[in-house]
Amino acid sequence: MYFRRKPAPAAPLENTAVWSCEQEGCRSWMRDHYAMEHVPACPLCNVPMVRSMKMVPQLVVPQRETKKKSATMS
Ligand SMILES: [Zn+2]
Repeated sequence: MYFRRKPAPAAPLENTAVWSCEQEGCRSWMRDHYAMEHVPACPLCNVPMVRSMKMVPQLVVPQRETKKKSATMS
């Protein structure tokens, strides 16, 4: 049992724009990054989510994917 292992380097926290669910008791949220175009609905409550700020680990975006205009998924 080796609990003394160094934890994986944690990404620095960053105040990030996110969408969060306003329903009481629901803690669902998603990064704004993933839903820029429209107001997303909470996958659990199916209500429109609200833009807010949240401290979340910084997203490490690979350099090659900085251009997200060309969304070729295949
Ligand atoms: Zn919800």
